[in-house]
Amino acid sequence: MLDHIRIVLVNTTHPGNIGAVARAMKNMGLSDLVLVEPKVFPDEAATARASGATDILDNARVVGYLEDALDDCQLVVGTSARGRHIPWPVIDPRELAAIAAPVAGQSRVAILFGREDRGLTNDELHACHHHVHIPSVEGFSSLNIAAAVQVVCYELRMEALSSERSNRPQWGTDWDIELADHAELERMFAHLEQTLIDIDFLDPDNPRQLMPRLRRLFLRAVPDKVEVNVLRGILKSVNRSMVAKSRSDER
Ligand code: SAH
Repeated sequence: MLDHIRIVLVNTTHPGNIGAVARAMKNMGLSDLVLVEPKVFPDEAATARASGATDILDNARVVGYLEDALDDCQLVVGTSARGRHIPWPVIDPRELAAIAAPVAGQSRVAILFGREDRGLTNDELHACHHHVHIPSVEGFSSLNIAAAVQVVCYELRMEALSSERSNRPQWGTDWDIELADHAELERMFAHLEQTLIDIDFLDPDNPRQLMPRLRRLFLRAVPDKVEVNVLRGILKSVNRSMVAKSRSDER
């Protein structure tokens, strides 16, 4: 997903900001950077501020027109520090991440960042599906451009990580132990039932819903093989102490 999201900087003035943007992107796993008519680039200040994200700068595409940055993108959003004349659908970075994630699975997403002094023009903003505003305080709403890129990329990364997590069952592929199979579980339930009868907890003539409830409890946990073995070990200990107790009672 993150490799389908492009950061587009429009007419950036300070090369140091471009370097800081590259760093922010690389920290969060993004790599596609397009620069529309940067004032100064490449430049030592950009390389210095990238501090190791020079691969992002080396691969950055410099274009003369905004369309060259956007033509192959299916979703285009513009970031803005303030409201504009014509209201547009305005979302925050978290909402952007939720909207962009499914799109970026297949298609390409572009996120535009404006000039340090004036932001994006109205025409540029009107090329966008959505406007993204980081909810900063009124009266001091404008972040440094690299800080704004950082906030947006962080939300995109969080969304990417959470969709990875939710696509995976909690006991999924990276579980260390193989899950118990049906036969092992049935043997455990039979063992548990017999033990509960032996200790007079379960009355076989009036079992009520005890076993279904216990089955539901254990099945909800999706036990693995080791966990089932531990439970059966506990039951065996109970069985042994029952036998020992009845022998001593006989004596
Ligand atoms: N005075 C300009 C601010 C430009 S700051 C203006 O009013 O638009 C440079 C860029 O950083 C902005 O164009 C935008 O891309 C981004 N940015 C800064 N603060 C932001 C905020 N609160 N929400 C969204 N983007 C922001």
